[in-house]
Amino acid sequence: MYITTTIPYVNARPHLGHALELVQADVLARHHRRRGEPVRFQTGTDDNSLKNVLAAEAEGVPVRELVDRNAAAFEGLRQPLDLSFDAFIRTSSHPAHRAGVERIWRATAHDLYQRHYEGLYCVGCEQFYPEDPCPDGHQAPLQRVSEENWFFRLSRYQDALLELIRDGRLRIEPAARRNEVLAFIEAGLADISISRSAARARGWGIPVPGDPEQVIYVWWDALANYVTALEGGDHDRWWVAERRKVHLVGKGVIRFHAVYWPAMLLSAGEPLPTEIYVHDYLTVDGRKISKSAGNSADPVTLVDAYGVDAVRWWLLRDVPRVGDADFTEARLAGRADEDLANGLGNLVNRVVTMVHRFLDGHVPDAPGERLAEVSPAVHAALEDFDFRRAAAAVWELVEEANRYVERTRPWQQDRAGQEASLGTLVHACRALAVHLEPFLPTAAARVAAAVGGSRLPRPEPLFRRLAGTRT
Ligand SMILES: [Zn+2]
Repeated sequence: MYITTTIPYVNARPHLGHALELVQADVLARHHRRRGEPVRFQTGTDDNSLKNVLAAEAEGVPVRELVDRNAAAFEGLRQPLDLSFDAFIRTSSHPAHRAGVERIWRATAHDLYQRHYEGLYCVGCEQFYPEDPCPDGHQAPLQRVSEENWFFRLSRYQDALLELIRDGRLRIEPAARRNEVLAFIEAGLADISISRSAARARGWGIPVPGDPEQVIYVWWDALANYVTALEGGDHDRWWVAERRKVHLVGKGVIRFHAVYWPAMLLSAGEPLPTEIYVHDYLTVDGRKISKSAGNSADPVTLVDAYGVDAVRWWLLRDVPRVGDADFTEARLAGRADEDLANGLGNLVNRVVTMVHRFLDGHVPDAPGERLAEVSPAVHAALEDFDFRRAAAAVWELVEEANRYVERTRPWQQDRAGQEASLGTLVHACRALAVHLEPFLPTAAARVAAAVGGSRLPRPEPLFRRLAGTRT
């Protein structure tokens, strides 16, 4: 499975919304690797966005400096968030990206033409609008732009796209997003501008092959990353031969990924992605995430204060598949204390303590009975890109094991009974460590260590309580 996240522009440091998509992709990658499937998990940064240029101007630093600094912050999420990506592509420095974008451009030449274009342009959105102000409410007035641009015959791909999406060869989830895309295409596709003047791009970006006065539109350049990062031997393996190519994207870029990108690929004679999962957005303390949202939107600050398990667990356990989710530090701490400290931590601690008290730390040879079978439910939920349902399915086993302790009361049993019930419970904790790994790799390793071997180590608390912690 080839799993990608979108590549964010890097006008600022990463926020919690970026962490959500990365953690979701990481769970998929770890889950499928564990099933023995070959996986390539790729993320990166959109260095060529005009927003990066504007942020550098506002800060008074060279664009290269700002882009390098912020891109490093995105790549640097790997360690604090326990991410397992295999490749990180930066569009301004990946050795094959520019040549790959040019290759795709040339391959679509039969669908490209020049046309005079006039419109009102928002630099903040990097998009044209019929009238001022832009819907996102950016402060600067829209610029009147009048120039000769390159256009792509998107209109030619209307029927092909409808067929691909309707028959599921291009699967878009959730269904409401698929219907949204179908309705957009059914309303009729107009050709789209895919270049701008080099002057308007401030000289940043990839020039149009054979027309250096024009720069390729940044979204074309950015979308191409899913293929250009594979230029060379990886292209055949991961873009041609791979059966499942999955893009994780936010709802704001659905049109680019589910309409423009597949049309570009059809035009270029390239295979298409097979699945697009569209997630909704996070708000923080009831507000849209922005640069001014402060500490609580900075994933690294949150990990420093609460630990990676608590941050990943909130993103996976509390964010619904459909609908926006509101993040607060109190919710994060509350969820971690309830599930990790009280639910999982208590379970493992009780089991290890009883194994020491009644069995001198020795794990019974017989594995005992098997509690809840969670693998099929986790797999089915992840096939639906329903991370919350998948996390809940793992939690069934925590709850089942805690109920088993209450029901069997090992402290009231004879030696044979204790061996049977504690064997069952150690087995359940070991299974939990395995099932948790895609979600909480760090916690899973701690659980595995706590219940590993034929003689268990002394019990130690696995999770500290987080209520009252503040960034
Ligand atoms: Zn705008």
